This record gives sequence, C-alpha cells and structure tokens, in this order.
Amino acid sequence: MRGNLGDQLAELTSRLVQIDSTNPPGDVTGVVGFIRDWLSARGFSSSIYEYVKGKPNLIAKVGDGRPILILNGHTDVVPPGDSSRWTYPPFSGRVIEGKVYGRGSTDMKGGLAVIMMVFAELGHVIEGKGSGTLVFSATADEEVGGHAGVEALVKGNVLVGDAAIVAEPTGFSRYCIAEKGLSQVRLVARGRPAHGSLPVLGDNAIMKLIKAIEAAQGIIEEVNRGVKLPQDLVEAVDNSARVYLEGALRGGLRLSEADLRGVIGSVSFNPGVIRGGSKINMVPDYAELELDMRVPPGVSPGSVIGRLREGLRGLADVEVIDTSEPNYTPTGERIVQLIHEGIARLNAEPKPIIMTGATDGRYFRLRGIPTVIYGPGELTLAHTYDEYVTINDLVNTYNVMRYTIEKYF
Ligand SMILES: [Zn+2]
Repeated sequence: MRGNLGDQLAELTSRLVQIDSTNPPGDVTGVVGFIRDWLSARGFSSSIYEYVKGKPNLIAKVGDGRPILILNGHTDVVPPGDSSRWTYPPFSGRVIEGKVYGRGSTDMKGGLAVIMMVFAELGHVIEGKGSGTLVFSATADEEVGGHAGVEALVKGNVLVGDAAIVAEPTGFSRYCIAEKGLSQVRLVARGRPAHGSLPVLGDNAIMKLIKAIEAAQGIIEEVNRGVKLPQDLVEAVDNSARVYLEGALRGGLRLSEADLRGVIGSVSFNPGVIRGGSKINMVPDYAELELDMRVPPGVSPGSVIGRLREGLRGLADVEVIDTSEPNYTPTGERIVQLIHEGIARLNAEPKPIIMTGATDGRYFRLRGIPTVIYGPGELTLAHTYDEYVTINDLVNTYNVMRYTIEKYF
C-alpha cells in the first residue's frame, strides 16, 4: 500500500467493496480471508469464530489486560437491488472525485477500512505499552440481526470489554449514543364465517381488525403522551431530527423538525403487513396485521405490548413477533467524551445522535459495555443506489479514532 492516508483508506475501502458479501445469504468468507491476510502481512494474528457456516467472525487482539477497548465492524452488506440503477457497478469500488462508490462503501466497508488501518497503525505501540488491550473485530450477520455475529460472540464471552466503538456510518462530526428498541407484534382478529350474501349471520374478522388498528393507534398515542426521555438524549433526538429532516426535504417531503422529533423521540407506529379473508363471497373469520413499533430509551417494549393487549381485548389478540430493548450510553462515559473531543479537535461541532434502527451496538450495551457508534459515511446513503463514502470522511474519522485510542490507553 502506498500514497497518503486518504489514498490508502480509499484503496482499502475499494478492495473491501469489491468482495461481494451480500446478506442474504451473508457469506463473508471472502472478506474475512482478505482481512486475515491483510492483518497477517502487518504482523498481526487473528482468530476465527464461525457459529454458522459461511459466516465467520474475525478477532485480533494486541496488548495486555484491562482496560479492553473493542473496535467493531460488520462485513456483510445488503443486496445491491437493481444493478442497472447504479451509475458504477455496485461491486466496482470505483474511486472518483474524492469518493469511493459501491454497495457497502458507507455501510460499512469504509468503517471497516478505518478500524483496520487504525488497528494496524497503533497495534505495535499498544503491544509494547502494557496499558490495556485493543481488540479488532470484523463480524458477520449484522444486516439480518447479528445473531451469528456480535450476539453470539458477546453471549459466548469471546467479545467483551470495557468500551466499544462500532464503526457504522454516522459521518465524521456525529456520533451515536443511543438506539431505539423494537416492539413488533401481530394483531389477530377472529370472527365467524357465513355466506357473503348474508353477512348478519357472520362476524367479520376484517372489520374487527380495522377497529383494532384504530384502537391500537390511539393506545400508542396515549403511551407517547407519557414518554419521558432520559436527559442525556434530548439533544441527541434534536440532532437526529435535523439529520433526517435534511434528507426528507431533499426528497421533496414537507415535514418540520417537530414532525421528525416527534417520531424519533416516541413510539413509532407502522402497520406493515395485512392479511385476511379467503373469498369475496365469504364473511372472513380471520384477519391479521403485522405492526412495527420502535421504542425510545425510557420505554419498555414489553409494557407497550401489555398496554395493547389490555386495550384490544375482545377485538384482537396480540402476538409477539420480535422485541429488543432500547439502549444508550450516558454522555459522561469516557469513550463518549474522547470521541467528542476528537471531533472538536478537527474544528467541527460534535453532535450526539440517536438511531431509529438497531445496530450490533445493542449487544455490547445490553452487556453493560459503554458503546459509541462512530464511523465514516452518511446515514441517509446506507442501503441506497449509488452509495458512496467520501475520502474526506474516511480520513477525518480515522483521525478521531486514532486520537480516541491513543488517549484511551
Ligand atoms: Zn451497517
């Protein structure tokens, strides 16, 4: 590898993008092999943990004892979609006009490149110091829930530490300290079948479900009137509202900052899938709705489900599809402060944010590990066509990361 830092980071990101690791199916053997060889060429050995065939996780460690700082990035990417809609082929890793293009450039092979480079640059220094352990981890499966990746590693005590940085895209001046949780349920309405010409003889499950959906929306509005965000997160919600508002305005949506703040800082309500009935001339005896709700820190997914169960009695049953706890790392934690300082040193205004979706960061936080999500790229470009990362962002996040790690040890 040659050239200045920007060229090196761009080249490494491009190489990673060129190795297809689309999930599903999520086979990351190729990327992991590349990372293992890349680290080995720089004098670092690594271990592989493969909980599901084709989904290996790689861990490399330097130094000794505590504190243990974990650097983490996922190796899988979402599918490219319709390849003809890409200006440059999705796995070309084309570098042009200060940007690296391709699927995964922002989410998150740019971030992987940054933590690989930082680990390789500082590894030998930390090794000799005896003031703690730096752990590099490239993990599988994030795009489908992280079960064969970070979740398994944390549960198996393979990947634990005193702090973690997950290099998901935030852009260099923002860092994420919180994630919403998940409350996904199925509302099931049951009725009594009859001939469609004599509906009075039946009990229409679709009509019951419609009433149940409206009632559910009312219940969530009531829950939201009582939401009190932890004080640490008020600013993060405001900052995130501004980020998503910019994207929304670019897309031609007429929304206000308050609209975005409202949905980010409270329980969101999205009926996603509806099914019911079997024939036009029959009174349906079954109808169901899959409902996606994202809950902010301070609200428990279980209590939301309890409120729905109680309020919908007689209209619909509430079945749990999936839940996860919202989580955050207080702004007073050292790792948060160091990232904040590192950004400020680059003459940018550091902005904490909250994510509406989930990352692997939740597995660290739920284990009590203070965790910051911080890495190159643009939140609004993840999973889109013509995804790119700027070389500027790669360099800046590298510098912030380097500062943070040097100070940490
Ligand atoms: Zn990601």
